[in-house]
Amino acid sequence: MSEVIVVGAGPVGLSAALGLRAHGLGVVLLEADAEDRVRPGSRALFVHRESLRLLDGMRPGLAAEITSYGRTWQTRRTLYRGREVYARTLPLPPGPPPFTSLRQVDTERFLRAACERAGVEFVWGARVTGVRATGTDVTVTAEDGRVWTGAYVVGADGARSAVRRELGIAMEGGHGEGFHVVVDVADRPGAELPLERVFHYEHPGLGGRSVMRVPFTGGFQVDLQCRDDDPREAYGTEEAVREWLPAVVGDGYGDRILWVSTYRFVRKVAASFTDAHRRVLLVGEAAHLFPPFGARGMNSGIADAAAAAGAVAAEAAGVGGAAGAVAGFAEVRRAAALFNSAAAGAALDHLRPRRRIVRVKQRVAAALAPVLPWCGSWLEHAPYGPRHGAPAGAGGKY
Ligand SMILES: Cc1cc2nc3c(=O)[nH]c(=O)nc-3n(C[C@H](O)[C@H](O)[C@H](O)COP(=O)(O)OP(=O)(O)OC[C@H]3O[C@@H](n4cnc5c(N)ncnc54)[C@H](O)[C@@H]3O)c2cc1C
Repeated sequence: MSEVIVVGAGPVGLSAALGLRAHGLGVVLLEADAEDRVRPGSRALFVHRESLRLLDGMRPGLAAEITSYGRTWQTRRTLYRGREVYARTLPLPPGPPPFTSLRQVDTERFLRAACERAGVEFVWGARVTGVRATGTDVTVTAEDGRVWTGAYVVGADGARSAVRRELGIAMEGGHGEGFHVVVDVADRPGAELPLERVFHYEHPGLGGRSVMRVPFTGGFQVDLQCRDDDPREAYGTEEAVREWLPAVVGDGYGDRILWVSTYRFVRKVAASFTDAHRRVLLVGEAAHLFPPFGARGMNSGIADAAAAAGAVAAEAAGVGGAAGAVAGFAEVRRAAALFNSAAAGAALDHLRPRRRIVRVKQRVAAALAPVLPWCGSWLEHAPYGPRHGAPAGAGGKY
């Protein structure tokens, strides 16, 4: 019997497997995709310092590997209708950087290599369709009929989690109106854009739509916020992006577009992060969905993974406490997810205001920013939602 089964080799499942190995537990990792899969797009870019600290605790040296590849920008700028309202260039503090920015596929590459070195057993092409827990173990079945039994299962199989579905656990929450377009663009070698994160409210070259640019190693991600009634084909196809991209970054990038996708602001949290027997633990997008603004998805998933590994290790060692370490994990990480969901809701209210007064406040703050710097600071920080009072590992921030 394998000690622990992890389902899903995304960034969160890989982190959970690594965390479990760091506690000395045997791990088999079941992944639906083939070993040579190529995952599209940059997706989650921002790896927060807290996530780096957790990963380094699982595999010393891993944080240095990731940060030496990623990019850390020191400059943040915010513009409002073509005029700069905030700009700060902060010195890097000594020690580990506050964050690093790299494509999710690159983060996964480092995590997978670390898992392989740590002795995680990978099973590729294993799509889980059945999960049955008892008081003593969990049996997992793949669609091709293969069966595994372990003492615990960590469900890290993403937004459409089969593990969660098999447990009959519902997702609670909803989604915002309208959609965003996310685009990866490769740098032009020798003519890289400045290493800075730029948010532009009501960009005049985009008909008043807001847009953000975030650098990563080798290129940058552009996020365009479309209006509720914008047709997707007018903004969200590669052809459409070639039309509007020059307004954001100038000419010369039309043939450097690597990936175009659209998404909606989804906020959902699982009704429970564990099953009735406390044998299955849900982590990452299997347990919660947050919009990208605020970088809460992958960062909070890594915190879930570390907490899940710690809880399983504690119970396996018989030090789970009266209430049980898995129950504690489920309670603490669900509270963090609810905090993140509320914070993402605050970001959404700012980015896509339902009340006219919010837009008026933004306009007034932009007008006052040259004389009242806190107004510019508010415009700079509000799109990502509050971090103040966040439970440990709740999320990051661009
Ligand atoms: C288009 C897009 C853009 C995004 N942009 C951002 C962004 O800009 N910033 C940000 O913070 N986040 C972003 N995200 C979210 C971010 O990618 C997720 O937070 C992150 O991938 C969650 O990791 P995870 O490991 O929980 O799930 P996933 O990365 O989804 O990994 C789940 C894994 O489980 C496997 N799997 C699924 N079902 C089964 C099964 N039945 N059996 C076995 N294996 C299975 C999948 O193949 C996959 O490998 C984006 C997501 C998408 C889709």
